[in-house]
Amino acid sequence: MKAYKIAAIPGDGIGTEVISAGVEVLQALASRDGSFEFKVDQFDWGGEYYKRHGRMMPENGRDLIKKHDAILFGSAGHPEIPDHITLWGLRLAICQPFDQYANVRPTRVLPGITSPLRHVKDKELDWVIVRENSEGEYSGVGGRVHQGSPLEAATDVSMFTRAGVERIIRFAFKLAQARPRKLLTVVTKSNAQRHAMVMWDEIAAEIAREFPDVTWDKMLVDAMTMRMVMKPQSIDTVVATNLHADILSDLAAALAGSLGIAPTANLNPERAFPSMFEPIHGSAFDIMGKGIANPIGTFWSAVMLLEHLGEKPAADRLMTAIEKVTADPRFHTPDLGGTARTTDVTAAVIDAIHGSNR
Ligand code: NAD
Ligand code: MN
Repeated sequence: MKAYKIAAIPGDGIGTEVISAGVEVLQALASRDGSFEFKVDQFDWGGEYYKRHGRMMPENGRDLIKKHDAILFGSAGHPEIPDHITLWGLRLAICQPFDQYANVRPTRVLPGITSPLRHVKDKELDWVIVRENSEGEYSGVGGRVHQGSPLEAATDVSMFTRAGVERIIRFAFKLAQARPRKLLTVVTKSNAQRHAMVMWDEIAAEIAREFPDVTWDKMLVDAMTMRMVMKPQSIDTVVATNLHADILSDLAAALAGSLGIAPTANLNPERAFPSMFEPIHGSAFDIMGKGIANPIGTFWSAVMLLEHLGEKPAADRLMTAIEKVTADPRFHTPDLGGTARTTDVTAAVIDAIHGSNR
């Protein structure tokens, strides 16, 4: 029997609540399938670890997880610790050295979920946003001088390498090509940002020649927000920079009904290091500890994890179970206007997994 090693890093806030639900669901799938099993190692890294050890993860943390088949991640963010410390100390400390350069965020309006866009029916909003995940605006290049003096100055420099832009745009073209509509939108801000963003546009035109069967167009990021709201059916696959796609994908998640549903894969497509799967949302301080976090974003991320492992039947079975459960308003958590608890949704998904013949 195949045994997959999964590193579970719940992190902080509702991260701990949704990841334990996610692990339960993965184990239920393995027992339903019978042809593979999961060996899950738990890592208690995050804000509480920081309070004890002065760092978010141990110095050799990456060595402890680099041989795992995949990482299931909750959220980095603690009410008592500044966000840039928690983010850089854990999530980015894994994503960047493991070169998980392709951040993939599917968005659909699932059955039973109402989009805040009045006229949208489920099939009309079916997107995948590809976010550059290794450089750009979040490269960490920059600094501060004259701190505390009136002369204080600070820079955050966006770093775009030709190799980095080529690989993410090629990844996005391939993904668009694999989807039925074969449609890609390349998002930049090449009117105002006249160096790196112009290079993006040039590289996109070059790579496009490798994919003659993919229809593609360019959008400025501000206009893209309008198109997402006004003409959602005109969009299929999207590629954008680290910052732009970060913002667009939160908007996408909200347009699909709730941030609590949206999944992410941080992929190292060459598989030199493990890839990491996580819900889009953060620690949600306002609801943590209440048992009402929506676990669907984590379950959908687990679907992407299974696809990455090549377990397509189990991935399909889980997605079918998720859709069966979202279709039933009794299993809607408060973010969706319901009264269900995390454990209710988890139990319903596990029931659907065992009940299904697929
Ligand atoms: P957030 O995603 O934690 O919460 C935004 C809003 O959405 C809140 O009202 C919250 O209750 C709601 N929400 C989010 N997920 C939900 C779920 N599963 N079910 C129900 N409701 C849900 O974003 P924020 O408030 O901007 O950030 C809080 C903390 O999380 C910060 O420290 C931030 O840095 C961190 N954060 C981490 C990540 C990450 O690790 N990937 C991502 C985003 C934010
Ligand atoms: Mn974000």
